[in-house]
Amino acid sequence: MTPTSQSYDLAVVGAGICGLAHALAAARRGKRVLVVDRDAQANGASIRNFGFITVTGQQAGACWRRAKRSVEVWLEIAEAAKIPIVQRGLLTIARRAEARAVIEAFLQTDMGAECRLVEPRELINYGSDLRSDEFAGALYSPHEARVESREAIPQLAAWLGERFQVTFLRETMVHSASPPRLETSRGPIEAEAIIVCPGDDFSSLHAERLAQYGLTRCKLHMLRLRPQRVDERLPPVMSDLGMIRYLGYAELPAAQALRVRLEAEQREHIDAGVHLIAVRSADGTLVVGDSHHYAATPDPFAPTAVDDLILDEYSHVFAGARPQVVERWIGTYAYASASDRLMLVDAPCEGLRIVLITSGTGASTSFAIAEEVIAELFD
Ligand SMILES: Cc1cc2nc3c(=O)[nH]c(=O)nc-3n(C[C@H](O)[C@H](O)[C@H](O)COP(=O)(O)OP(=O)(O)OC[C@H]3O[C@@H](n4cnc5c(N)ncnc54)[C@H](O)[C@@H]3O)c2cc1C
Repeated sequence: MTPTSQSYDLAVVGAGICGLAHALAAARRGKRVLVVDRDAQANGASIRNFGFITVTGQQAGACWRRAKRSVEVWLEIAEAAKIPIVQRGLLTIARRAEARAVIEAFLQTDMGAECRLVEPRELINYGSDLRSDEFAGALYSPHEARVESREAIPQLAAWLGERFQVTFLRETMVHSASPPRLETSRGPIEAEAIIVCPGDDFSSLHAERLAQYGLTRCKLHMLRLRPQRVDERLPPVMSDLGMIRYLGYAELPAAQALRVRLEAEQREHIDAGVHLIAVRSADGTLVVGDSHHYAATPDPFAPTAVDDLILDEYSHVFAGARPQVVERWIGTYAYASASDRLMLVDAPCEGLRIVLITSGTGASTSFAIAEEVIAELFD
């Protein structure tokens, strides 16, 4: 039997983290699952990201709760799926007093429960690479995990095939998706239910449905740096600029004073949507980013001026000579500008769902979103 001659309980379009998460949630319920993707191997946002499963900093409410659940799922499957957890936790550095005030306000919220304020003198415990004596403090969160996405996503797909007999049909374009049938470049496929997880492709499938959400795309610059050495104690690091982007901090009243100061002192960074995330890889390199430029069709160019802004913020946080840049890439993700539209689930008809992560949080929230969608679809 070929993959196209069988019928499935669920067909998933898209083998990024969103599609794989739905395949996992359905397979765990014993469903026969097919995943179809037009590319030969993972190539979208899901392998271009930091692999940073971020909890602290996510918007209070559903997004934070989904991130908390999703990190649990990553940890549940990591060993069996042979996906190394490269780092845990998050250190959000406050370079300014206003940023420390945001941390103090965050710690007063429910989301701050297991997090703590780190005084500058204690920062040495998180590695000797930081400009600790120049900071006003930091927030340590224990919740986060980091995977190496470019390896973790293929590994997750392979494990879904081995462990749950999920079928993968790659290099296959889906032209239409209406249960109980998919029309693909390899012919029709029968499936009782269909979930479309197209990433930032709003035009190939159900374009008329997606048009109502006012979606655009966000382009990000990413760098891999090779410092002379990286202290193995270093958790993922963010800084002040992240506190006016990540809604879990940015929506706190205390963030307003920080925003005013950053707009006065780091206008260029803000205009390019630059903030700092630095995560460590097993080979001693750091994945560092990023920037945010919005357009329906982002241009493919990556001006070095934007990279220089990222490296400038890096140099204010990390001590030592500026490291060699060993790799550069860009990524894009689906984006909805409304702050209450971090993801969307559209239900055009019975048995069909379209799921998009519209806020750059897919590594952090997809597993939980998928559990909710699969429960609603099959219960
Ligand atoms: C640079 C960068 C950094 C990021 N950092 C983080 C981070 O640290 N933490 C975090 O939580 N999130 C992060 N994100 C966001 C996260 O990566 C995305 O939200 C997530 O990867 C989206 O997953 P997806 O499966 O929806 O999309 P994708 O990974 O883009 O997958 C969509 C798939 O659908 C397929 N497809 C689409 N249409 C069709 C069709 N008609 N037929 C067949 N196949 C089709 C495509 O080929 C593609 O493989 C980052 C994103 C970027 C770009």
